[in-house]
Amino acid sequence: MARLLIFAETRAGCITRLSLEVLSRCREIARERRGSTIAAAIVSDNPPAYFEELARYGAEEVFAVTDTVFASPPRTPQGAPLTAALAGIIEQAVPDVVVLPSGETVKEILGALAVRISAPALPDVSSFNVLDGVVEAQRPVFTAGFIAHVRAKGAPVLVSLRAGSYAASENPAPSPLRVRNVPFAFDAKVSGKTLRKVVTAASGGIDLSEASVVVAAGRGVRNKKGKRLIEELAALLGAAIGASRGAIETGLFPPSSLIGQTGKTVSPDVYIAIGISGALQHVAGMSGSRTVIAINKDADAPVFRHATYGIAGDLYEVLPAFIEALKQKGSMVNSV
Ligand SMILES: Cc1cc2nc3c(=O)[nH]c(=O)nc-3n(C[C@H](O)[C@H](O)[C@H](O)COP(=O)(O)OP(=O)(O)OC[C@H]3O[C@@H](n4cnc5c(N)ncnc54)[C@H](O)[C@@H]3O)c2cc1C
Repeated sequence: MARLLIFAETRAGCITRLSLEVLSRCREIARERRGSTIAAAIVSDNPPAYFEELARYGAEEVFAVTDTVFASPPRTPQGAPLTAALAGIIEQAVPDVVVLPSGETVKEILGALAVRISAPALPDVSSFNVLDGVVEAQRPVFTAGFIAHVRAKGAPVLVSLRAGSYAASENPAPSPLRVRNVPFAFDAKVSGKTLRKVVTAASGGIDLSEASVVVAAGRGVRNKKGKRLIEELAALLGAAIGASRGAIETGLFPPSSLIGQTGKTVSPDVYIAIGISGALQHVAGMSGSRTVIAINKDADAPVFRHATYGIAGDLYEVLPAFIEALKQKGSMVNSV
């Protein structure tokens, strides 16, 4: 039996897909360990907007912090108030395990939260289980070249889960949600930090870390013509645009679209790597993709080792044909 608490992160009025993956995994664990409970932590200026979705994915109880400091877009740095809000929720919920989505927000606060509540933390794991009060997990390390087997015991243990590790699925038999409001007060002046500007990443208007289709450009996309082909393909597929370090160095793609060890981690259903060699540092950020399509003119490029489907050819010849075929089968595009 385990009391599981998940942090349901929200973005632009939605619970993030990664948070729903976390919730779905906790439901599997609760099914295997009779008597386990699943609660969700929600921190927002309007928590009730998310209750129905939380129940649909398996939460039985929700601990809610309501404060305008968490309004979107933020007007103050979120790290300190979020850490304080989650610490307050954990104090009330008294969970055995707290599972958080390992996105950029959680990467920023996990260490501070662990110190604040004196809890052990297993960051950025790709799988985990709870056995007799012990959390056992696997963690990709050294740019995912090795898998570390780690375990922790504590009250609670903090675990952050990588995107794409488990599928998000709805609970066929949702239970009524019990709601607990957790008191919260935060003085933005004492944080000592000021938010000067919120910059929205330009990735075809779609959030890269949440996208179900990603079109990623590499150094092989060497000019504006190539960039236009990438944009046209992404628009047809409703995809977000990502890039390798090589593509960013050309100046054609913004640094915010970097995927990899030093960039974003993505886990789409379909990842299309175009003119990308497949360096380990890049693969570290996309290895959670379900289907990988690689287009590269070098048939021996390492990227093909990670591809479900490979096209050995010049992108300037392959992409126009690919785009034309998609246009002709317009109705199929919607079902990708
Ligand atoms: C500490 C560290 C951290 C790093 N972090 C990251 C990271 O987070 N993300 C990242 O991406 N990289 C990262 N890198 C850099 C990484 O090692 C690679 O250098 C980089 O990923 C290469 O980008 P690329 O594949 O686009 O370019 P290249 O390696 O130059 O490959 C270009 C590919 O395009 C193909 N090509 C060329 N022309 C065409 C054409 N017309 N049609 C089809 N194919 C074509 C070529 O055959 C080649 O395979 C990091 C490196 C270090 C040292």
